[in-house]
Amino acid sequence: MKIAESIIEWYHLNGRPLPWRETRDSYKIWISEVILQQTRIAQGTAYYQRFIERFPDIESLAGASIDEVMKYWEGLGYYSRARNLHAAAIQLMTLYNGNFPEDYREIIKLKGLGRYSARAVGSFAFDNPVGVIDGNVLRVMSRVLNDFSPVDITATLNRYQEIIDEWVKNVPSAPFNHGIMDIGSTICTPTKPACILCPLEKDCLSVKAGSQAFLPVKSKKLQRETRYFHFYWVEKNGSIAILRRPEKGIWGGLYEIPNEEVRHENWEAGICRYPDSEKKFEFKHVFTHFDMHLRVFSIKSGIDTDSVLCIPANELKKYAFPKAVNKIIQRMQ
Ligand code: SF4
Repeated sequence: MKIAESIIEWYHLNGRPLPWRETRDSYKIWISEVILQQTRIAQGTAYYQRFIERFPDIESLAGASIDEVMKYWEGLGYYSRARNLHAAAIQLMTLYNGNFPEDYREIIKLKGLGRYSARAVGSFAFDNPVGVIDGNVLRVMSRVLNDFSPVDITATLNRYQEIIDEWVKNVPSAPFNHGIMDIGSTICTPTKPACILCPLEKDCLSVKAGSQAFLPVKSKKLQRETRYFHFYWVEKNGSIAILRRPEKGIWGGLYEIPNEEVRHENWEAGICRYPDSEKKFEFKHVFTHFDMHLRVFSIKSGIDTDSVLCIPANELKKYAFPKAVNKIIQRMQ
């Protein structure tokens, strides 16, 4: 049996039932793909359901304010995803009359849709004959092919794309892509793959070579850095100072309380530049590429209140804050 057929047969018996797999609605599939790009299924499912309930179609998303969309994304991270979803919904209304294009070569023109998500929507909603490669699929492919090329370089990705497109050419692509992803996340796991349960065992070259544990190969090791920040809780007449972050960069478009990055020496020395400050608490927040240490001070003066919004404390819940700032708000209130 060919690789694609083995995967599809396995998927029909073992595939995970997930809400976005029970629909062919391209809008819902698109939302689920964007949510799941950097989020585990268990966490993403609740966000997906809330999001779809409030914004059930392209029109409702395009017509909402960006602040409301961000509020529904609060806590999910990678906030440019929410801004791009909103922008793409407006694009779909103005350029495509509120309909999703069916071909992934058109889908990829929408704001925020890259090679992965355009192919995913094209396949899952419209059965475009294309393979969809995520981290799990890369691992399965490198092992099936017993290929020691680094999987994090463009040349390998392009080659794998050609191979998987060939595999999927003459079969329905949605069950194939769902299946290979599920095999990667449940059977062909990073350590101790359960080859005995795998429908690809007979075709898998790394099983023959006994090399599963050494694949996939990566060229780069992620360099983590540590950064230090002072956050300032400014409360005046029952209102709290907040401000909106720029659209670009970390936490883009969300709200925060005044803060600044400090040098490691100043952090170690515990120096706060506001004289009437009171240190409250500190904690660490982990990002993909760096660790952020946050120290929170309550301060009485020194922040220019013209440069911030002063919001009654009981209205803070209307604004979308990143997780770390929400933690500060909860502890300070
Ligand atoms: S046989 Fe083993 S190594 Fe090969 S794809 Fe399946 S789980 Fe992965």
